[in-house]
Amino acid sequence: MITRVISFMLPPVCDICGGIADGDDRFTSYGQIYRRIYGVLPTLHICGKCLSQIVPQDRDKRWFLCLSEPFEHDPVPSQPLYVPFPYEGAMSRAVPGIKFGRKKELARFLGILYGGLLREDDIRADIMVPVPLSPARFRERGFNQAGEICFPAAKICGFAYGENVLIRTRETNRQTEMASNTSRIDNVSGAFAVSDEWDVSGLTVILADDVATTGFTLHEACIALYAAGVSKVLCSALSGNRQVKNAEPF
Ligand SMILES: [Zn+2]
Repeated sequence: MITRVISFMLPPVCDICGGIADGDDRFTSYGQIYRRIYGVLPTLHICGKCLSQIVPQDRDKRWFLCLSEPFEHDPVPSQPLYVPFPYEGAMSRAVPGIKFGRKKELARFLGILYGGLLREDDIRADIMVPVPLSPARFRERGFNQAGEICFPAAKICGFAYGENVLIRTRETNRQTEMASNTSRIDNVSGAFAVSDEWDVSGLTVILADDVATTGFTLHEACIALYAAGVSKVLCSALSGNRQVKNAEPF
């Protein structure tokens, strides 16, 4: 009762744009799915305008090569990348909002949509693994947004979830702050390894991040997974700004 009085006095605010959101803006089954995964009801609000902008790519436009600019002697050439949402509109505000506003529940909402699309596309794997943050960045932010997105997606699809399968072996700079592609490659080169606590040999892995741009980070993490003996990797990101479809489905 008291929450109803408060929400009448203070209408809910959209977690993406900060505008007024009415109570029924999320898709109807979302609350039940969220409760099944987390044991409580969500408190997230997204206004109808933002929700209407979160539209997946057409099914035949979700597949790319992991590297937007492939290079010679790539140890994993033709590595596929699955990206279901374009990085535009409300999505381009939501993803930075997760990182810098510490909006875990927004990450989980997008992760639930992501899992729904992985299922729709009949993508199968043994385990889903998020791209890790460095320990310093994790301490600064308090959570790994890729992990928050990845966990509900894995639950929905029935995959195991591999938190900390991958570790960062050294600090890296933010890829967005690097001046050139060469420096972006150097920045992440050899920066990942599979933790001693996991045996991933022979597994099929979906490697997941929040955004894919050049693909260098996913590419490096993918190499580390293959070095640890996995049988197959699908690189994947919730959203990205790639234009051209240039890979075959997984
Ligand atoms: Zn909004």
